[in-house]
Amino acid sequence: MRDQEKDAVAVDVDEGSSGDSGGGDDGGVQQVGKPDYHMEEHTACQTCGWTKNDIKGEGKCYKYVFYGIESHRCVQMTPVVTCNERCVFCWRDHEGHAWEVDADWQNPEDVVDASIELQRKLLGGYKGNPDVPMEKFERGMEPRHVAISLDGEPTLYPYLPELIEEYHDRGMTTFLVSNGTDPDMIERCEPTQTYISVDAADPDTFDDVVRAEDDDAWSQLQETLDVLADKDGRTVLRNTLIQGWNDGDVEGYAELFERADADFIEVKGYMHVGHSRSRLDRDAMPDHEEVVEFTRELEEHVSHDVLKQVPRSNVALLAHTEDTWVTKLKKDSEFWEDDPAA
Ligand code: SF4
Repeated sequence: MRDQEKDAVAVDVDEGSSGDSGGGDDGGVQQVGKPDYHMEEHTACQTCGWTKNDIKGEGKCYKYVFYGIESHRCVQMTPVVTCNERCVFCWRDHEGHAWEVDADWQNPEDVVDASIELQRKLLGGYKGNPDVPMEKFERGMEPRHVAISLDGEPTLYPYLPELIEEYHDRGMTTFLVSNGTDPDMIERCEPTQTYISVDAADPDTFDDVVRAEDDDAWSQLQETLDVLADKDGRTVLRNTLIQGWNDGDVEGYAELFERADADFIEVKGYMHVGHSRSRLDRDAMPDHEEVVEFTRELEEHVSHDVLKQVPRSNVALLAHTEDTWVTKLKKDSEFWEDDPAA
């Protein structure tokens, strides 16, 4: 893993959310007119900072270090920008989350086409860039990964299981990131890796931090943790750690994490970016030592005993094994042998 870690060489300002985000930008539907954030119907796409770094050979996202995701080949998208939560740490504009999507949902094939097309448009400007080797540009135009996590809550898209299947049929891996408010949908989805956000260890903190629209969001999250425990695929619990807000009850978190029996626990320091700046002070950002200290304390109460970290992304990971890469993403695998851009 050491060699892989060397590849993560840039500061990461993403993930202000339940999901991953290209972050550091403003949030919500208002972003649509901005560079790097594009929409077609209800599908939104944005190139993550790491995709742009990687295409220029300037380092990969921590998801490469932990799981083997090639940043320059990763589409960051969402099939819906609406959200049923109003998290205090979210970098998006919550006005955008209240946006009424036209209920005329596109089918999964069209959503996949739209996201790939949008990604190609977003990366198209790198053609001929002296910092981008043509071979790398061409690989970027043939994405192999999708992070369904850009904005909003993806389980609000009614055909999410079929969407994931469609990406797999096109030879791509899928990382699904959800706030856990729809356990039935999570049960039906079979992505390469399921992420569920757990940003509070008790209902009161949950109310303060997550500010869900629905009164039963906390109990839905508990149900989702049980669904996760029964899932066959790879599962991740994600905590966005906010200094002085949700960093108190380590044992409470451990209980929830053990209940979900997830393969991985990611603790990510809150980043003071985008619209979250109007809700939180800068000193709500924990430094990396604090993130690691919290994670070490957590490690004492959960069954995971391998700790990894990427300081530049202010993230720590707890796992059961040293080898945390998605098996099919290992070098020389069939997945890469079948690469259309090879
Ligand atoms: S659940 Fe919704 S409000 Fe919370 S961080 Fe994610 S997108 Fe933002």
